[in-house]
Amino acid sequence: MKAAVFEDIGKLVIKEVEKPVLKRSTDALIRVKGVGVCGTDLHILQVPPAHPAKKGNILGHEFTGEIVQLGEEVQGFSVGEQVLIDPHPGCGVCDECRRGFPDNCIPLYQTSGEEGHPDTIGIFSPGAYAEYVIVPRQSLYKIDAKVPAEIAALAEPLTCVLNAADKLQVQPSSYVVVLGAGPIGLLFTMIMKARGASKIIVSEPAAFRRDAALECGADIVVDPNSEDLKRVVFREMGKGADYCIEAVGPLLPTAIELVRAGGKVLQFGHDETVNPEVPVGELLKKEVIVYGAFIGKHSFEKTVRVMESGKLPLEKVVSHTMPLSEIHTALSMLQRGEGLKIIITP
Ligand SMILES: [Zn+2]
Ligand SMILES: [Zn+2]
Repeated sequence: MKAAVFEDIGKLVIKEVEKPVLKRSTDALIRVKGVGVCGTDLHILQVPPAHPAKKGNILGHEFTGEIVQLGEEVQGFSVGEQVLIDPHPGCGVCDECRRGFPDNCIPLYQTSGEEGHPDTIGIFSPGAYAEYVIVPRQSLYKIDAKVPAEIAALAEPLTCVLNAADKLQVQPSSYVVVLGAGPIGLLFTMIMKARGASKIIVSEPAAFRRDAALECGADIVVDPNSEDLKRVVFREMGKGADYCIEAVGPLLPTAIELVRAGGKVLQFGHDETVNPEVPVGELLKKEVIVYGAFIGKHSFEKTVRVMESGKLPLEKVVSHTMPLSEIHTALSMLQRGEGLKIIITP
């Protein structure tokens, strides 16, 4: 089969590889129906890399597919069913998993590849930029086949956003600012709207992403390059927002500036190449509460329900669908800030 392999630093190569063969009785063989191209893929392929990955590995960690074959110990699933895949389910036995933090599972970050230790699929173990992939049983979640593959492929980002949004407890009276309207910012925007936020301002430099934010529930969009974001927020929200969601990476100081006293900030944008200076005085005088959130944990079941209900306009997040042969086009489009979520259909 054809697969996109992380050959070396900065190099993703489409090549012929062996179709994977089921070896463990607790695994399943999946035919990939849709896989999202993620900012993390760009980070992995950056020179020098901004995110680690195993060399020689097939990338692709945001995917959905159909069960082709099941190990004899995999219960409760059948061949032909459509499934969402949790690419980092955690080992379930390390200290962090047992404390309720499978997103910080120790073996996941040791990239040991030891038998029985899950590595993040599509980062440290073979992923879904390929026709077939093997996944462990604890990664499988059934989803109704009526959910289109390009929507189901949003499961991994959506599960991360649902996990993060849970921390804020946004109410129908809340004023919310979202920084960034890439796929993640758009998912946050639609969830904030679904939670009943009274006013949502989205800040985003790209015009087509601002348009998408309006379609996803933003009340006001701002181009931070040509408008004074702080002025707009204070004009529209009085003494500042109740909540600010940072979905870009380096904007924590801005987020702290934009909330009112007692406001809450959520840092979700992930860019480890930047370490912005935090306005400590403002943080403490306003008694701002700052949350961090990383990958989803215990939120795949919620993701299935959200997708099957059809109540969120998830289709607004998907801008393109492309075959695997066009993966490099997809990556360079995202690099240039074009497109939203691009789904590859191997
Ligand atoms: Zn991702
Ligand atoms: Zn663990």
